[in-house]
Amino acid sequence: MVFEKISAPGFNDFEQVVFCNDSQLGLKAIISLHSTVLGPATGGCRMWNYVSETEALNDVLRLSKGMTYKAAISGLEWGGGKAVIIGDPRTQKNPAMLQRYGEFVNRLNGNYITAKDVGIGSEDLKIVKSKTPYVLGIDGEPQSSGDPSPATAWGVYHGMRATAQHTFKTTSLKGLKIALQGLGSVSYYLLEHLVADGAEVIGCDIDQTVIDRATQKYGIETVRPESIYDVPCDIFSPSALGSSISADTLPRIKAKVVAGAANNQLATPEQGYELMQRGMTYAPDYAINAGGLMNIYHEQHGQGGYNRKRAFEHVAQIGATITQILERASAENLPAHLVADRMAEERIAKKAAQR
Ligand code: NAD
Repeated sequence: MVFEKISAPGFNDFEQVVFCNDSQLGLKAIISLHSTVLGPATGGCRMWNYVSETEALNDVLRLSKGMTYKAAISGLEWGGGKAVIIGDPRTQKNPAMLQRYGEFVNRLNGNYITAKDVGIGSEDLKIVKSKTPYVLGIDGEPQSSGDPSPATAWGVYHGMRATAQHTFKTTSLKGLKIALQGLGSVSYYLLEHLVADGAEVIGCDIDQTVIDRATQKYGIETVRPESIYDVPCDIFSPSALGSSISADTLPRIKAKVVAGAANNQLATPEQGYELMQRGMTYAPDYAINAGGLMNIYHEQHGQGGYNRKRAFEHVAQIGATITQILERASAENLPAHLVADRMAEERIAKKAAQR
């Protein structure tokens, strides 16, 4: 028998959304469990000075849904979740509030697993963990998977190679010119692999310190941030902020391949179709940048505890996932971002049908 879902606009896609209030401690939080079909809804807790509760709600819904797709396409036995605490992390965060947040997480009995995100760091998570065991990703703790950036970079590297192989029929990145937008944490680790493979990288950033760090270590050329879209290159790698590929920027990109670390690279789904129409190969963002999530997964699912070598071998499989997406996209003449969504949805539907 098929029953109707909750009909409230925006909510009918979500399994459970929990509002957490404690006015004495100043805690206003929302935990969204988008899906637990594949396993516990997992995703970080963000503390942000939202201009309104509606903005916070929209953010947590959007982010938790994204986590479902990322875990599903990566073959993890995790669903998608996320939490937001409304407030300025610099002035409004306090231990009692974080403990209370931990109590709310604990009430969900392991159906939601929390972690770091913007505004919530390892020290905060230690306080949360005093009230609930459902916390992952605390730096420095035994069995911790540590900084996710090297794992994310490792996954992006393998995804980029797979995308290049699909497009240029090459087995490495040797001799390919890569325009790298953003030289932050992930890109710094990514550069090591790209340079070792013999790629020619031209980078950019808005922060001179990270530009100096990259140029001094790897001797790469850089351009002004706005010029990166005009660089003649084989691969364009959006690895700074979201919405890099927009109606304005896409026509300027010379590359045949778009593959990078940033979340939400397409300003709108329209750009996914336009990339295909222009004959460009796109590695869907949440599939290629899942290395950090896969790495932290090993804190919970690693046999005998977290093991970096095994975790990184797992992350390298992102290459195979990207190949699968691109081959299906070619065979069905569909844009890669849509095929990734379908593959994730099919995996969830199959599991749901077995339950
Ligand atoms: P980061 O903050 O360390 O680096 C981002 C860099 O982009 C910064 O150096 C910043 O100065 C630069 N930047 C900002 N605006 C720019 C612009 N207009 N032009 C050029 N550079 C600009 O972040 P990160 O951890 O390296 O993450 C990079 C991207 O990857 C983000 O979109 C992030 O959400 C995504 N991501 C990161 C991880 C991870 O493990 N860190 C995992 C998945 C996805």
